[in-house]
Amino acid sequence: MNKFLKYNFKRFNKKEYANFLDKIIAQDFDGVILSAFKPDVHGTKFAYTNEYQQSMSDMVYMAHDKNLMTALELNLFASKYLWHHKNFSPPISSKGAEFPHTENYYPVCPNNKLSSERIVKLIEEVSNIIPDYFILNEFRFPYDWWNNPLDLQDKIPNYCYCPYCIAEFSSELGIVINNIDTLFNNINAWMNWRFQVLEDYFEFILEKLVAKKDLIVQVPPLNLVDIPFSTGQSLLEYGEKGAKISPLLFHRTKQKDMNWSLEILDLFKIDIPQEIIIPSIQYDDAQKRFQLPAVLEEYDDVLIY
Ligand SMILES: [Zn+2]
Repeated sequence: MNKFLKYNFKRFNKKEYANFLDKIIAQDFDGVILSAFKPDVHGTKFAYTNEYQQSMSDMVYMAHDKNLMTALELNLFASKYLWHHKNFSPPISSKGAEFPHTENYYPVCPNNKLSSERIVKLIEEVSNIIPDYFILNEFRFPYDWWNNPLDLQDKIPNYCYCPYCIAEFSSELGIVINNIDTLFNNINAWMNWRFQVLEDYFEFILEKLVAKKDLIVQVPPLNLVDIPFSTGQSLLEYGEKGAKISPLLFHRTKQKDMNWSLEILDLFKIDIPQEIIIPSIQYDDAQKRFQLPAVLEEYDDVLIY
C-alpha cells in the first residue's frame, strides 16, 4: 500500500519543503499530496500564476527525485475567487435561495460560464506538470457534505437551479422550464442531463491529462445510491473510463470515529471494484498521531489529510 500525505503550506519555500519530504520518508510515507492553488490565498486566484506553476513543477520534481510519488489536487467546482468576481452568480436551490457558502466551501455551478472558463484555463496550466495522480476535488454539483446530511424526503436534488442550469436544460429538452413543477415532471431527463454535464467535463479532463497520469475522483461520504442524486456524479462510468474513486472519509470533520470511515468504505466495496478505490482519510487527532487501521492495507493507495 502506498501512503500519501497532504502537504499544507503558506508560501513555497524549497528548504522547508525538502525537510518535509525527508521527514515523511523517515515516517514511511510513499507520496505527497499537493494542491494546485496559490496557497497563501487558498484558491482565491482564477487559476495560478506562472511563478506558482514553476514552484508546483519544482515540488513534483523534488518529490520524484527523492523517490516519492505525487498526487496533485485540482479544486474544480469551488472557488472563493469566483464568488467575488463581478459577473458571478451563485448556485440556487430548488426553492430559489442562494447557496449559503461556508469558509471552506464556495461552490460554483458546473454550468456557470465563469466556471467553465476557469476549468479550461486551469487544466491547460496543469497539463505541463506530470504528477503520478491528478485528484479531481469538488467535482460535483454543489453539495455541502460537511454540514448537510442527505434528506431522504427530498424528491429532487437541492442544487443547482441557477439561470445557467435552467437555460441549458431547457434547450436540451426543447421546452421552456419556467417553474419547478415543469422541471419535476421531467425529473429523469433532469437527472440524466446532470450526469452528462459532469461527464462532458470528465471527458475533457481525461483527454487533456490522462495520457500523462491517472485521475482520482473524490466523492462525498454517502451511500452509493445517494451520490448520483446529490452530486450528479456517475462513479461507475468514471471507473469504467479508468479513473480511481476516492471516498472522502473525514471522520473528524463529521465528529465520528474511524469506524464510521471503515463502514462507509465497506459500502463502497459492494459496488465498486476494490482495486479502483483509494480511500481519503484523516488523522485520528489534531497532533497528527496516526494508527492506520489494518484493513486499509488491502488498498493500493491511501490519501491522508
Ligand atoms: Zn446551476
